[in-house]
Amino acid sequence: MSTVRVRFAPSPTGPLHVGGLRTALYNYLLARKTGGFFVLRIEDTDQKRYVAGAEEYIMEALEWCGISPDESPQKGGNYGPYRQSERRDIYAEYLKKLLANGTAYHAFDTEAELNDRRAAEKEKGNHNFRYDASTRMSMRNSLSLKKSEVEQLLVDGTPHVIRFRIDPGNTVNFKDSVRESVSFQTEELGDQVLMKADGLPTYHLANIVDDHLMEITHVIRGEEWLPSTALHVLLYRAFGWEDSMPAFAHLPLLLNPNGKGKLSKRDGAKFGFPVFPLRWEDAAKQEVSAGFREEGFLPGALVNFLAFLGWNPGTEQEIFSLEELIEAFDIERINKSGARFDIEKGRWFNQQYLMAHMDEELAPLVQNEFNKEGYDIGTDTAAAIAGLLKERIHVLPEFFSSGSYFVKAVTDYDEKTIRKKWKTANRDKFDQLADVLAGQDDWSAAPIKAAVVAFMEANELGFGAVLPIIRVAISGSVQGPDAFEMLEVVGREESVARLRNGYDAFEKIKAQ
Ligand code: GLU
Repeated sequence: MSTVRVRFAPSPTGPLHVGGLRTALYNYLLARKTGGFFVLRIEDTDQKRYVAGAEEYIMEALEWCGISPDESPQKGGNYGPYRQSERRDIYAEYLKKLLANGTAYHAFDTEAELNDRRAAEKEKGNHNFRYDASTRMSMRNSLSLKKSEVEQLLVDGTPHVIRFRIDPGNTVNFKDSVRESVSFQTEELGDQVLMKADGLPTYHLANIVDDHLMEITHVIRGEEWLPSTALHVLLYRAFGWEDSMPAFAHLPLLLNPNGKGKLSKRDGAKFGFPVFPLRWEDAAKQEVSAGFREEGFLPGALVNFLAFLGWNPGTEQEIFSLEELIEAFDIERINKSGARFDIEKGRWFNQQYLMAHMDEELAPLVQNEFNKEGYDIGTDTAAAIAGLLKERIHVLPEFFSSGSYFVKAVTDYDEKTIRKKWKTANRDKFDQLADVLAGQDDWSAAPIKAAVVAFMEANELGFGAVLPIIRVAISGSVQGPDAFEMLEVVGREESVARLRNGYDAFEKIKAQ
């Protein structure tokens, strides 16, 4: 078999949606698994929808996820240019072949004429006027007009489009590895425009010419392109390229969290989660879209999560590194049915990834989170916080939101616990505990614990009476990591001060 060459072919019309990112990922996985090539092609022929910055965004997102292309506008390669806007001459060249063999024709109908015709048809009760075999002879094109007239129109530089001639009565069959055999009747298709009046090709023409010239072996893309594939097969036929046509795999839709309907940008805002890998600021619309990166997801976790939206390895294993995904990926195991985008599952993946990292590896990320909040912490402290919190949180900003007490005294105490656990009669004893800890030389968890236990025994107090008091004084809450580990990270002077301040506050709460 020839070398696998796959492409991710986004249009730079805005930020890359997670659905597009999943498409890129599956392409990448197949390329890596087979020792093939992963191509990024920018499909920017629709100038009206072009958005500045979108191409850079796509590159950055792929890079962040660790799935960079082998060939791209930036990287180059032997099959360039990789931006369709730079390939106009190529399309014009290939279009000549279709004009010559009669599968394409010039159409001179103006926008106004088309609208008039549509309106006239509507009046007759036909709401779906289509430019096709049944109507083309009543329109103004090189099939309906006299040859001399056509030549004159072209000589005069009359604006026109070029349409694909599709004749009825044929069946188009193609194989899709996700759906097995797919079949369309040619009468279901209209005479699609291949080249627009601005001289730029439409998606269909450019896509087929490029997939052929770039020697693409597998087209892996979203399900929304399935209906266009019949047209694409006819284009391959018209060019005489049917024998080297790529294999198709149309990926199932990503569904919103309710499992009803396609996951949209609006769902992200509605349910409060990102649907884009990176944050995107739309200056024109004054709109900001949240990104997985900025929300504190690790790229590996996002990749792992997306890989499972539409594919599974057929085993119980869920946590896969990129290398393991490459190893396990199988295009035949892509599901047909839509995949529900369950952000809780995404958060779970992220937690698993955090837990799998060494505390030292997470330390810079923890430092960064504290930094954003205006706190500089050392690497050792950051590593200690990582170790204490990584199993309790899901996304990076929670290192600070759940662990701010490591750097600042609490003022908000769990009053319910205090009302139940704080006994004014024990104040003296707790003062003694603060004294004991103030004199504790070796300030690490085990000796701190030994000192507290000795104090409890001497005063006939149990864990249940003492630990909640310590916890609430240090962190405000009874939840959290091991109390002695917490004391160690907070430090001796600060811990003792918090205990003493806590007791005063507890007295007040009790007195209310
Ligand atoms: N430019 C198309 C898109 O934006 C590419 C579809 C395809 O992969 O053929 O999705």
